[in-house]
Amino acid sequence: MSSPLLAVEGLSISFPGEGGHMRVVDRVSLSVAAGETLALVGESGCGKSMTALAIMRLIPKPGRIEPGGRIQFEGRDLLSLSVPDMRAIRGARIGMIFQEPMTSLNPVTTVGDQVMEAIELHADIPREEARGRVMELFGLVGIPDPKSRFVAYPHQLSGGLKQRVLIAMAMAMRPRLLIADEPTTALDATIRAQILELLRDLSAKTGTAVLLITHDFGVVNEVADRVAVMYAGQIVEQGTRVELLSRPRHPYTQGLLRSIPKAEARGHRLEEIKGTVPRPGHWPSGCRFHTRCPFAFAPCPIEEPVRTPVSPTHAACCHLVEREVQP
Ligand code: SF4
Repeated sequence: MSSPLLAVEGLSISFPGEGGHMRVVDRVSLSVAAGETLALVGESGCGKSMTALAIMRLIPKPGRIEPGGRIQFEGRDLLSLSVPDMRAIRGARIGMIFQEPMTSLNPVTTVGDQVMEAIELHADIPREEARGRVMELFGLVGIPDPKSRFVAYPHQLSGGLKQRVLIAMAMAMRPRLLIADEPTTALDATIRAQILELLRDLSAKTGTAVLLITHDFGVVNEVADRVAVMYAGQIVEQGTRVELLSRPRHPYTQGLLRSIPKAEARGHRLEEIKGTVPRPGHWPSGCRFHTRCPFAFAPCPIEEPVRTPVSPTHAACCHLVEREVQP
């Protein structure tokens, strides 16, 4: 089997807090193959965005990646690269888009110039060629009338168009991996569907793999090939989209799925996961989900469940799975 494009192994991230360092991401392992879309799903504060920032080596200070973890990308160990080598990978081999298109663009520069700058940062090419590439990218991401949009300022574009500009910028150097952190959260439902379709098309057309960070299983359903579910700094379940959606084995994944609005559920109350997400770094003992889990039993607050395979491509961390009981 060929090695994955991205392999994260045993990644832990900590911040200084009361009484020492607090782990906000704890022994996370995941991989993304060339061309595939992996969705990293969980509620806010679970560590998914911090995991993405670690891959880009952009953890805000005073946070740190703890020794012992590894991040391999295209066969290179990202954690041992020099700052200039990492800067060369960021933006060129790994693109990133964020949730808030309003604040990610410079308000006083035209969007065409901003995408051109992204190209010129990594490629020593004549301005005319860079300009041509921007037009091509605008076409690729479905920006209508690229010529007039090139000279537009961000405030002259809708939220959906701004997000398309950011996707064009992230795709400017034809990266092998695109990290998209909640790319549709700030958009309304119709635009959200269009942006998800765009991500799917881009991945299919260019072969770019996508690591999609989201709290929304509706988004997962539309674009993911595989899914990793995070809770309280840890990955609690991983599998193909079909496996996770049709036969989720972790009670947290089951709870997230029950909270998705479904057409046939209109007029009915959606089920919420009871309780609140623990504060980052202040995780409960044993299984970190035991304070909210409807199936919690004696060992749960004491023993940490181990990763238990359910199939060659599906695994979950829950004592019930270890005991082969269907939660
Ligand atoms: Fe629930 Fe226990 Fe499984 Fe944790 S280990 S998810 S508390 S049943």
